[in-house]
Amino acid sequence: MSKQIYLTKASMPPFEEYINEIRDMWDSHWITSMGPKHNQFEKELRNFLEVENVSVFTNGHNALELTIQALDLTGEVITTPYTFISTTHSITRNGLEPVFCDINANDFTIDADKIESLITENTSAIIPVHTYGNICDVEKIESIAQKYNLKVIYDAAHCFGETYKNKSVASFGDASIYSFHASKVFNTIEGGCVSTNNNKLHGKLEKLRNFGFSDGLSEYIGTNAKMNEFSAAMGICNLRHINKSILKRKKLTEYYNSSLKNIKSIKFITQVGDLKSNYSYYPIIINPTISRVNRDELFNYLNQNKIQALRNFYPITTDHPCYKNQEYKGTTPVSRSLSEQILLLPLNENLKFEDIEYICSKIKNFLK
Ligand SMILES: *Cc1c(COP(=O)(O)O)cnc(C)c1O
Repeated sequence: MSKQIYLTKASMPPFEEYINEIRDMWDSHWITSMGPKHNQFEKELRNFLEVENVSVFTNGHNALELTIQALDLTGEVITTPYTFISTTHSITRNGLEPVFCDINANDFTIDADKIESLITENTSAIIPVHTYGNICDVEKIESIAQKYNLKVIYDAAHCFGETYKNKSVASFGDASIYSFHASKVFNTIEGGCVSTNNNKLHGKLEKLRNFGFSDGLSEYIGTNAKMNEFSAAMGICNLRHINKSILKRKKLTEYYNSSLKNIKSIKFITQVGDLKSNYSYYPIIINPTISRVNRDELFNYLNQNKIQALRNFYPITTDHPCYKNQEYKGTTPVSRSLSEQILLLPLNENLKFEDIEYICSKIKNFLK
């Protein structure tokens, strides 16, 4: 087999379906600025995510940056460095100080038992990240937030379509942010949304994404983060197929699990209980204490065999050049060591079972 196997491949509706969805735009010429597709998509998302309010944005990053602005946070924000750089950037770009809490070694989300020791009189919020489809300890975080009167914004970029104890994951915290980038479980080409049950926050976000405008005058120093009609139409189409798409990912994940389960030198992520997962990623951990080869050697070997894997999240955000030489509060050894051992294997709804067979045979061959 010599074809390239990709890590992700954008989910796309049948071509005809998309063409039908955008056809009216050639009559109306309304292609952006809160048009009919945009409004329909927001309404459908509200139903799907089972929350009071949803507002869509150009991308997940702008959604997060604007939510932080909308909540008027000050001083320090507790977060993790084991995430995509967007989470840390959204805090620092708002002029706030990130304080780094480590993750737990089982499910790779923020270690909720370590949050309280990082809280000071300057702390205004917690921005935890739901990781690889696993969700944070939302109950513990909720009780800490109440005790210290802190806001909670979840970076839920990995968790579209999930429920925890039969409740939509979109309903936790003051707000949750989703990314609809092409590489995610659900995409609008580029895009993102904020879900919140707080009507006031929602009203402010709607203004902030459109230059802060309120009746033609700028009430806030906003930006331009409006989703266009082509993206909204993509979202409307992809939403019709999301359940089928998640089911396919589940089957692929189970196939990986059964193919890799007997390899002693690979460790796996612990799934959070009571969670209906979206199977967004397939991480494996190459444990250096029991494996003959290290993660980077396996990564290179897979690459040579045209299998695209991803070292993610690597490096942790605090080790990127723009943060590396600065002092931050919090020590995060678990995050750093995981980032050196983890590899995401190809997972997308277009992947075939025989691709997984091929990938796993290569892995077995290299690790044995
Ligand atoms: C993808 C992602 C983002 C950013 O979303 P964009 O839509 O690409 O701006 C933020 N946080 C996490 C954890 C992500 O995976």
